[in-house]
Amino acid sequence: MLLVYSEKRSFLLRNLLLSLDEDETLLPRRIAERFSLSPADVTSLRIVRKGIDARKKSQIRHVYTVSFDVADPEGFWRRFGGERDLELLQAALPTIFTPVESRGRIIIVGSGPAGLFAAIRLSEYGLRPILIERGRMVDDRVRDVSRFWQSGELDEESNIQFGEGGAGTFSDGKLTTRVRDPNAGYVLSRLVEFGAPEEIAWSSKPHVGSDRLREVVANIRRFLLSRGVEVRFGARLSDLRTASGRLTAVVVNDSDELPCDRLVLAPGHSARDTYAMLHERGVPLEAKPFAVGFRVEHPQELINRIQYGIPSHPRLPPADYALTYNDGASGRSAYSFCMCPGGVVVASSSESCGVVTNGMSNLARNTLWANSALVATVRLEDFPGDSPLAGVHFQRRLEQRAFTLGGGDYRAPAQSLISFLGRGRGGEIRSTYSPGVREADLAELFPAPLVTTLREGIASFEGKMRGFITAEATLVGVESRTSSPLRIPRGEDLQSVGVSGLYPCGEGGGHAGGIMSAALDGIRVADAVAAQERNGV
Ligand SMILES: Cc1cc2nc3c(=O)[nH]c(=O)nc-3n(C[C@H](O)[C@H](O)[C@H](O)COP(=O)(O)OP(=O)(O)OC[C@H]3O[C@@H](n4cnc5c(N)ncnc54)[C@H](O)[C@@H]3O)c2cc1C
Repeated sequence: MLLVYSEKRSFLLRNLLLSLDEDETLLPRRIAERFSLSPADVTSLRIVRKGIDARKKSQIRHVYTVSFDVADPEGFWRRFGGERDLELLQAALPTIFTPVESRGRIIIVGSGPAGLFAAIRLSEYGLRPILIERGRMVDDRVRDVSRFWQSGELDEESNIQFGEGGAGTFSDGKLTTRVRDPNAGYVLSRLVEFGAPEEIAWSSKPHVGSDRLREVVANIRRFLLSRGVEVRFGARLSDLRTASGRLTAVVVNDSDELPCDRLVLAPGHSARDTYAMLHERGVPLEAKPFAVGFRVEHPQELINRIQYGIPSHPRLPPADYALTYNDGASGRSAYSFCMCPGGVVVASSSESCGVVTNGMSNLARNTLWANSALVATVRLEDFPGDSPLAGVHFQRRLEQRAFTLGGGDYRAPAQSLISFLGRGRGGEIRSTYSPGVREADLAELFPAPLVTTLREGIASFEGKMRGFITAEATLVGVESRTSSPLRIPRGEDLQSVGVSGLYPCGEGGGHAGGIMSAALDGIRVADAVAAQERNGV
């Protein structure tokens, strides 16, 4: 029996403020002052959350939530219980995993956050799944990706989308999620154990960084191997075998047939061949809306000035932003997405003759550039056709058009933001995208209604962030892999509604978006698999 994740009994205080000039060592004293204690009465303190209040540019402050212990907890609570912002923390019950006996073989497809956390969780129950991953191990993959960035030589099985750690490995590693899930703390504490920076547990905007993620992913593999999980690289799920609506086996690399009772299918949103195979095998799939657009790059100091009123400060992280625009008349929206302060725009293709952009940053976030996706929603009527794969075809056409506009050698088409808006030529085209950019008219990439929404959206962003529209901003296309263009529906038991034993999972199944929510979905599916194994269903 394994116990994990316990929390100490203490008090919780929200909205504790420090100015930019004040050091965190002042926090115990601030608590003592607030409750008229002696500083020695505050016996321990832990930062639970740290955020920035930059609403008044002249008075930017750090806002903390802290947990702390005092010398006389009973007396303290008698005097101050009921004070605003103060709570008594109950000790969290430890999570207990009761071992489960496996009756059959469990296979997980994909080593992204969803597949990895499904494997970690199953191993906590004492189960030993086989994890198959089409791409290569992280170190080899890093070499394949940098070769592509330098020479434009793409490996379709080992790239930003495919390989150990999934799309998550080269991500920015922002762990924010809108999903409130009791397992979020479990994911964060596991990531810290595997080498992520400790502050992700309390930062209001947790960020691991692409450099650190590579270590985390390799440590997860070592952990899984130590638990008896088998991990196979260069192993692509190429077919399924079913009998009477139940999964019986999987085929790997078109040749090896492995009997299989439960398949956790977490292939990410770029496994287009896998989607096609599932469709051919009659697994129910349904098209869903998504979003496309481009990356915008600004000098980071310009974004800092807009958000903080100053170009930089040693106690402030490079500033970020999140912008949205809704057009009431058309019902379309435009929004910024996956903003990467101090980062770079990265070539993220996984299919030959297609250009795909995305953004990432290292832990230090120390480049001179800020980038973010700016995307507009794509609705089902934008890609007519009955096939559930119609959205995939729409994305592919955009990526091929971007490849042609970029010159046919994986350079990305780019345009100054001012010029895209039709307000003149704008400034010099500057981008961190490697293997380089070529000037083009980005309006040629998208259907007209999307161009209109993107233009209106950008115009409205200027109202929220004065200076956003500037000759210093460059657009780089095309951002097409924002989320899955289809869903693999599942029932309450989390199995495919058409094939029992098949558990669509993570972003590829259309059940998550982003690292955190994919990891949480992996856990959800693993818990369902373990419960069904235990109950023999
Ligand atoms: C550059 C970049 C930056 C990003 N930044 C962030 C960020 O800061 N924060 C955030 O929350 N999200 C970010 N994302 C998105 C995030 O990475 C994904 O949402 C997340 O990785 C999805 O997890 P997943 O496990 O569902 O799928 P994936 O991570 O896509 O993993 C799927 C895995 O399955 C494998 N696979 C596919 N088909 C098969 C098959 N047939 N057989 C065997 N294996 C297969 C793939 O090789 C891949 O390794 C970023 C993505 C990219 C590309």
